[in-house]
Amino acid sequence: MIKPLIKWLALIGLAFFVSSCAKTESKVLHIQGQTMGTYYQVKYVLSANQQSKASLSIDALQAQIDQRLELVNDQMSTYRVDSELSRFNQAQESLIVSDATRYVVESSLTLFKQTDGAFDITVGPLVNLWGFGPDKKPNKVPSEQLIAAKRKMVGSQYLSVNANRLIKSIPELYLDLSSIAKGYGVDVIAEYLQQLGINSYLVDIGGELRVNGFKPANKQWTLAIERPVAGQNVQRLIHIGNNAIATSGDYRNYFESDGIRYSHTIDPKTGKPINHKLVSVTVINKSSMLADGLATAITVLGPEAGLLFAKKQQIPAFLLVKEGDDFIEYYTSEFEPYFLEEK
Ligand code: ADP
Ligand code: MG
Repeated sequence: MIKPLIKWLALIGLAFFVSSCAKTESKVLHIQGQTMGTYYQVKYVLSANQQSKASLSIDALQAQIDQRLELVNDQMSTYRVDSELSRFNQAQESLIVSDATRYVVESSLTLFKQTDGAFDITVGPLVNLWGFGPDKKPNKVPSEQLIAAKRKMVGSQYLSVNANRLIKSIPELYLDLSSIAKGYGVDVIAEYLQQLGINSYLVDIGGELRVNGFKPANKQWTLAIERPVAGQNVQRLIHIGNNAIATSGDYRNYFESDGIRYSHTIDPKTGKPINHKLVSVTVINKSSMLADGLATAITVLGPEAGLLFAKKQQIPAFLLVKEGDDFIEYYTSEFEPYFLEEK
């Protein structure tokens, strides 16, 4: 996965926070690390009582979080040759996988059906062909012949799940969970924090975020949807309550050939990178995994069909579209309550 340190369209938890609050004596702690080819960060609030627990210290918690993220990588990364996913990709017929991988694959199959095939984790061979997979860096446009050959290997109709067994009906089937695994990783960490009795946090993997509770002094976590303009890079400030939020955008992950930009998001119907004026799609959902998957799905659908889909499915979605030199906002009524101020 080619990931910049801070995606330009990523949501940034830039809220300024006080690291301790005298009145409540609660405190914000901050963990940072690397995972899935990008950064991650966790901010969590401890009460005075919790602060005395060694198990909740930054070092102790970071070790536990890193261990859990490692596990997700061992399960779902196409960048690890011996991950469960890679072993399934190499298998001729089937493989028994963990509950976690099964859950993410099943959720992906539901998204495939819900989006009429726009979201499809079997696009792996095309992602690799266009140079956005683990194999090589993007640099040239593949021939129509090669695209047609790879398209024959793509389609979630060739994939099924029986208990924990993933089954392929064509041996070439190759799964790529890059569009949804970061979101899943965020959910894993958020749920782990909840288990520990930590109810106020912000979890961020490469711009996919989930927040819960409040900062000290009952302040909300303020997030920003980025604007692709130097110097004025906040498009909107939002408060999302106890929810997750994901942004898909292609500004940084593309390659350019003869002045044309090729995106890392592939339209399974054409076998080619999407080509429209959508600069970013932001989705809010309880589940970070679903927010991540839906943001990618709406990106594939494009500005018109994507917005229509979000409206029909009543998804809180925010689309930024380049029209001439302007960036025009389109959003569903479900997104409106999250804006911090009117425009
Ligand atoms: P980002 O947050 O970096 O914009 P996304 O979550 O949108 O990334 O996922 C993009 C990745 O998903 C691509 O790099 C590719 O591996 C994979 N992908 C590309 N096209 C599709 C598709 N139509 N359905 C599912 N996954 C896709
Ligand atoms: Mg995604």
